[in-house]
Amino acid sequence: MTPHFNNLTPAEAERLAMLAEECAEVIQIVGKILRHGYDSHHPDNPATDNRDLLAKEITDVAAVTREMKRAELSDYQLADTFGTVWRRKLGFTHHQEEN
Ligand SMILES: [Mg+2]
Repeated sequence: MTPHFNNLTPAEAERLAMLAEECAEVIQIVGKILRHGYDSHHPDNPATDNRDLLAKEITDVAAVTREMKRAELSDYQLADTFGTVWRRKLGFTHHQEEN
């Protein structure tokens, strides 16, 4: 059998699919929040507002990325760079402050 040109293992390909799916879910709820606000909710589910949904989807992304950091990204010290990345991004924002 000819190996796939991307050389991904089935587990790596699955984690990438999971990451894409979870990131898409974050994008979807961000769109809802921009249109309707954090405190809005689906009419059929008033107990769960958009803030709850964003927290859930961000947690889903974090869970997948944590596993990716353990597996295919283990050579990268991602957590140590969060502050550096945020400070760099501040140079291209209008309403954010350094904490
Ligand atoms: Mg999700």
